[in-house]
Amino acid sequence: MPISALVLEDELSCSICLSLYRNPVSLCCGHSFCKQCVQKALGVQQQAKASYSCPLCRVELGPILELQNNFHLSSVSLAAWLLDSGENYWLLLGQKYFCWRWRP
Ligand SMILES: [Zn+2]
Ligand SMILES: [Zn+2]
Repeated sequence: MPISALVLEDELSCSICLSLYRNPVSLCCGHSFCKQCVQKALGVQQQAKASYSCPLCRVELGPILELQNNFHLSSVSLAAWLLDSGENYWLLLGQKYFCWRWRP
């Protein structure tokens, strides 16, 4: 079976908790995080400053936090996970398989 492998790890992992997105949301700068992670990170900011900034690129987000559900990442997270005989995880996404280097 021909498999096109591509490491999607960066695209699929939250830069705060470093694991797969759970309830991924996007900030207006385009960065995505788990909802819980970004709320935690920005909750800490709120105590110190008047406006939020992205935990990753520090772009000012303004005093009101708008979290948009990231439907692309949500659907990726809902795609099928397969475990092969070599204990590698493969993500089945549409017609393509992506290798995932699993971190426990
Ligand atoms: Zn996270
Ligand atoms: Zn950002």
